[in-house]
Amino acid sequence: MRRRLVVGNWKMHGNRASATALASNVAAGTKSCSGVDVGVCPPAILMAPVVAALAGSRVACGGQDVSEHESGAYTGETAAGMLVDAGCTLVIVGHSERRQFFGDTNDRVAAKLVRAAAAGLTPILCVGETLTERRKAETSGVIAAQLAPVLALPNIRELLARMVIAYEPVWAIGTGETATPEQAQEVHAFIRGAIAACDATAAGALRILYGGSVKPDNAAALFAKPDVDGGLVGGAALKAADFTQICAAAAR
Ligand code: PEP
Repeated sequence: MRRRLVVGNWKMHGNRASATALASNVAAGTKSCSGVDVGVCPPAILMAPVVAALAGSRVACGGQDVSEHESGAYTGETAAGMLVDAGCTLVIVGHSERRQFFGDTNDRVAAKLVRAAAAGLTPILCVGETLTERRKAETSGVIAAQLAPVLALPNIRELLARMVIAYEPVWAIGTGETATPEQAQEVHAFIRGAIAACDATAAGALRILYGGSVKPDNAAALFAKPDVDGGLVGGAALKAADFTQICAAAAR
C-alpha cells in the first residue's frame, strides 16, 4: 500500500513570525498523524526559520520551485543544492502558476525535475489542465504532453522511484472549486496508466497527489479514491488547524 503524503504550498505568503508560528503549529498538530507523510513548502527566503521550527518533527520542508541549472549567473534563482543545504527534502516543479506566469515549459519542468532529483530532493511534478482544455475534452492529451519529456528521460526508472506527481486541475486551484473525487480518480488512473506503460512496478508504487481547493471537508472523500495518494494543498495549508485536519484525513 502506498503511504499517503500531504504537502502544503504556502506560495508567496507570510513573514518570519507568521511562518515560524505556522510551522510550529503544523509540527505540533501532526505529531499523532503517524500514518501519513507531511511536508510544507514555504517561500525560499523563509526556509531557515521554518526548518528551525520543524526540527525534530515529522514534517519535511520543501521548495516551491528550483532552477534547472546547477549554479551560476542566474539572478533570482534557487539551486537544488541550496535547497538541500537549507534543510529541504522536497521541491515542487511545474506548478501551474510557474507555467502560467513564469514561462515554465514542459521541457524546462523536466530539466528542473532532473536537477532536483540529482541533488537528492524528492521532486513533486505538477500536471493539470485548464478549464478550457477540460471543456474541449483535452485533459488526457494535455497531461500526456506534460508527462512526455519526463518519461523520455534516460534515467526515468531511477527518477520514478524518487518522484511524486501532483494532479492539479488549474480550474480548481485557489478557486474554491474542487474536482469531484470521481473526476480526480479518473485523471489519477490515467496518469498511473501512462507511467505503467513506461514501468509497471514503478507505477504501482508512485504517489499521485491531488491538488485544487482541498479543504478539511472534502479531503477524506478525495483520499478515499484508490489512485489518490494524498494532497498538495494551497490555501488551506495557511491555517494550521485546517492543514492538520487534512493530514489526519489522509492518515491510515
Ligand atoms: C496549489 O497551489 O497547489 C493549490 C492546490 O492551491 P489551493 O489548495 O488553494 O487550490
